[in-house]
Amino acid sequence: MVAFTGAGISEESGIPTYRDTNGLWTKYDPSKYASIDYFLQDPSYYWHFFREVRYPLLFESAQPNPGHLALADLERTGKLRCVITQNIDGLHQEAGSTRVIELHGNTRIIRCLECSKEFTAEKVYEMTETRIPPLCTDCGGLLKPAVVFFGEQLPQDAVHDAYAEAEACDLFLVVGSSLVVYPAAHIPVRAKECGARLVIINKEPTVMDTLADAVLNAKAGTTLPQIIATPAPQRNTPKT
Ligand code: NAD
Repeated sequence: MVAFTGAGISEESGIPTYRDTNGLWTKYDPSKYASIDYFLQDPSYYWHFFREVRYPLLFESAQPNPGHLALADLERTGKLRCVITQNIDGLHQEAGSTRVIELHGNTRIIRCLECSKEFTAEKVYEMTETRIPPLCTDCGGLLKPAVVFFGEQLPQDAVHDAYAEAEACDLFLVVGSSLVVYPAAHIPVRAKECGARLVIINKEPTVMDTLADAVLNAKAGTTLPQIIATPAPQRNTPKT
């Protein structure tokens, strides 16, 4: 099995998703704070968002929930090869998953666009108390979170690994993703093309439900542990 996760799996850890009714995108304009073109034109918009949403603090206090832990258990028992995630919160790693392919980077790291010096999000949060946008303490360059913004390429190693896993797996399990963000959303399509069964667990319907072999409209944190706890059906049991 290969799992593919989105913001929905971290919702029960208290991290808001983008597209739910209470999602971040209802308050902030993604074409501004999540776009590389806009960021380079006016970086302060992103950093005001960063301060107001308190991103580093939100992530620091968030704990993996039973959904993350269930995927880590599946890896430990040898049933799950890896987690491909669109998330940028690092919660799969905290839950114990060792093979995590991050397609969109990780927001806990902030990098200087000039000299590549790295800062923790907590440190940069402190810096934004006195200056927005924050600047590199070594070279004065612009700082940017190590996440993929709209208009930027996905990390090629991660994309390569994700496709290789999708093409080779028997079962591709999508958890908590609206499946509308491309190019990541093409990966489940590729898995299906290559013969995998596609299972989607999401609180609400997704645009790929018709492609799936099974769809569960349910919360990840309650459903995943239940699925794991359910014994697999016995095959070839002789009838009495
Ligand atoms: P999305 O916000 O587009 O979709 C999330 C989906 O999860 C929704 O369809 C929603 O119905 C479902 N959902 C919400 N709560 C759920 C729950 N408890 N159980 C199961 N499903 C639930 O998110 P996306 O598809 O990941 O794509 C948006 C982008 O948002 C990604 O690129 C990702 O990098 C970024 N993002 C990440 C985080 C994070 O790292 N935690 C948070 C917000 C956004």
